[in-house]
Amino acid sequence: MRRVFSGVKPTGHLTLGNYLGAMRRWAAVDQHQSDALFCVVDLHALTVDHDPARVRRLSRQSATLLLASGLDPELCTVFVQSHVDEHARLSYVLECVATDGEMRRMIQYKEKSVREQRRGGSVRLSLLTYPVLMAADILAYGADEVPVGDDQAQHVELTRDLAARFNQRYGHTFVVPRATHPAVAARVMNLQDPLSKMGKSDDTGPGIVYLLDEPDVVRKKIMRAVTDSGREVVYDREARPGPANLLEILAACSGGNPEALSGAYESYGALKRDTAEAVIELLRPVQERHKALCADPGFVEEVLRDGAERARGMARPTVDAAYRAIGL
Ligand code: ADP
Repeated sequence: MRRVFSGVKPTGHLTLGNYLGAMRRWAAVDQHQSDALFCVVDLHALTVDHDPARVRRLSRQSATLLLASGLDPELCTVFVQSHVDEHARLSYVLECVATDGEMRRMIQYKEKSVREQRRGGSVRLSLLTYPVLMAADILAYGADEVPVGDDQAQHVELTRDLAARFNQRYGHTFVVPRATHPAVAARVMNLQDPLSKMGKSDDTGPGIVYLLDEPDVVRKKIMRAVTDSGREVVYDREARPGPANLLEILAACSGGNPEALSGAYESYGALKRDTAEAVIELLRPVQERHKALCADPGFVEEVLRDGAERARGMARPTVDAAYRAIGL
């Protein structure tokens, strides 16, 4: 059976971008059609200035939201990265295969290191090596597919390169995985700045819809989304990024096609109203399940304990094989 691995970073509250770009498919498709593992990648939350208590709280909240999004522990494995030592163990070995130049070319590293410096902070070494840890997350499980938003395409590409290089140098050890992206909304943009990704870690701005936002808050954020002075609603990601983002969000919620949908609207006001209502409906069941799960914290605890045990059992043989292959 096909193996699938993916994860979310507990660096902020999960967003509509995380949901449409990744989580929704995990629950709707991947857990039914493959042997799937979904992980709260908490080690990745330590790559920038962090508050330990907040990371711990967000890890728990992210895991709860993964379950609320429809992941069923009977169908897939849900766990927290730091509960399974194999990730860090394999990461070091892969650092001995990756190069410094390759790491410095990563777009997210370039963007985030500049941001850290602007904030007056120093750049943690782990920010540079984080894509190697991500490669370890994926390769430890022999994943064939990695369902992610398209901001992660470059990191999965690096994972493929490292797997192939390791196999070529030290003998076949890893499955070379491939990224899969949703057909629409593979990169949901910030409603106030449609040239930037809607990223949970960036800000708590009005341009980000969080999965736990109340209907009124969602409505307000979408009604205030930045568009442009154009008179017609057309789908053009390059020239009209604001309206294009709304059309993609609406299409992703309603199962339509953004280009075809654009013809149905004569004004941005109507487009925003329908988009807001569609998002509210999309989030409603997730929020209801989240509420029920919060009333039963012992259940989440148990899922994560079982998940870590299962994950460990799957990762250990591959990581042991990598250690043997490289000469340890
Ligand atoms: P973030 O950038 O919000 O911190 P993560 O690194 O935790 O996100 O990503 C979790 C998953 O959500 C990844 O598969 C990522 O590609 C996807 N994702 C994140 N932001 C977006 C977005 N704005 N649009 C589509 N997918 C996204």
